[in-house]
Amino acid sequence: MVISKNMENLVANSSVIRRLFEEGVELAAVVGKENVYDYSLGNPSVAPPAIVKQAIYNILDSKDPNFIHGYMNNSGYEEVRDAVAESLNKRFDTDFSRESIIMTAGAAGALNCILRVLLNYKDEVICFAPFFGEYRSYISNFGGETVVVPADTKTFQLNLDVLDDYITEKTKAIIVNNPNNPSGAVYSEETLDKLQVILEKAEARIGHPIYVISDEPYRELVYDGAKVPFMTKHVINCLVCYSFSKSLSLPGERIGYLAIPKQIDAYEEMQSALVVANRCLGFINAPSLFQLVAQQCLYEETDIETYDKNRQLLYNSLTEMGFECVKPQGAFYLFVKSPTEDEKIFVQEAKKHNLILVSATTFGCPGYVRLAYCVPYDMIERSLPAFKAVAETYFGDKK
Ligand code: PLP
Repeated sequence: MVISKNMENLVANSSVIRRLFEEGVELAAVVGKENVYDYSLGNPSVAPPAIVKQAIYNILDSKDPNFIHGYMNNSGYEEVRDAVAESLNKRFDTDFSRESIIMTAGAAGALNCILRVLLNYKDEVICFAPFFGEYRSYISNFGGETVVVPADTKTFQLNLDVLDDYITEKTKAIIVNNPNNPSGAVYSEETLDKLQVILEKAEARIGHPIYVISDEPYRELVYDGAKVPFMTKHVINCLVCYSFSKSLSLPGERIGYLAIPKQIDAYEEMQSALVVANRCLGFINAPSLFQLVAQQCLYEETDIETYDKNRQLLYNSLTEMGFECVKPQGAFYLFVKSPTEDEKIFVQEAKKHNLILVSATTFGCPGYVRLAYCVPYDMIERSLPAFKAVAETYFGDKK
């Protein structure tokens, strides 16, 4: 092997999703694209709002090209960071200023900057199962260890009853993803207040801060009037990673931001290190044109009704067939309990009916599968007979 040991591990661990993608493509070549029901990827199916295209034209027409396409401060354009800070302050009654905002290459860029800044070799980062599987790669990329708090499968809220057992002197950070991919759970104010109490005690015991990384790409994607509390109002040492990938359907453009509240421990040291991390990780700065686009779309909302229609159809149909599903309050994923103990067998069975599902072992929660319902509504409709056939193999004519 010419590649490093660390990279070897990262490649091995990323092969699950790659294989799934390849399997879908192979299957489509045999049975036809319209007969493959691919629920694997979290790529938004709703088009970006019209204002995005308009903003691109406006910016290109009205601004100096060297300004639009040039280098700028590594944390982003001042006017964009001012606008982001103002939008947060207006919506959440916070006191961010341009210094506390760093424009990043999506939420992934923000997460990687924070982990780069915090982690020494073998430092630990806690993730609550189920969690976005990529966190493992991000953490191990900087020599850290992922520590998994098992899921509370009754509520799919943060499993705070056992959290303290997983905190050690090596704990540097905890990642909280609200609303959650893959369960669709939304964590309440009470949950976050309880988290703060646990952290204060643990920080006193271990003698250093534990930073909570609030990963929020799905902040606005909520249903039935659910509210996502703004984490920094509840957890003191909290940094927010936001992304326009889902809210504006722009995942390929790589645009998001990191918000650093002044209340966190070692604010100035963290802020300046995070700007350097953005540069030394090779991002240099977030994509320039899309910083300016984001600035013009900060109050824009995605078409949540479309995702909600998908959610209702899939959740109602699958539960009616006998599957046990967590009713998602946010994001665009349905988390389904496998009817067999080993969900990988269920995934294989579903594949026989051209259904591509993701095993939740990837998300630290074996025994479940994830369905991304950011897909065309008619694909869900067409896939229902396939789910029905799978249901019959497990539940017979009980339903
Ligand atoms: N965090 C979670 C929970 C996600 O689901 C995703 C993408 O699907 C990301 C982070 C990365 O998002 P971005 O495209 O903003 O980097």
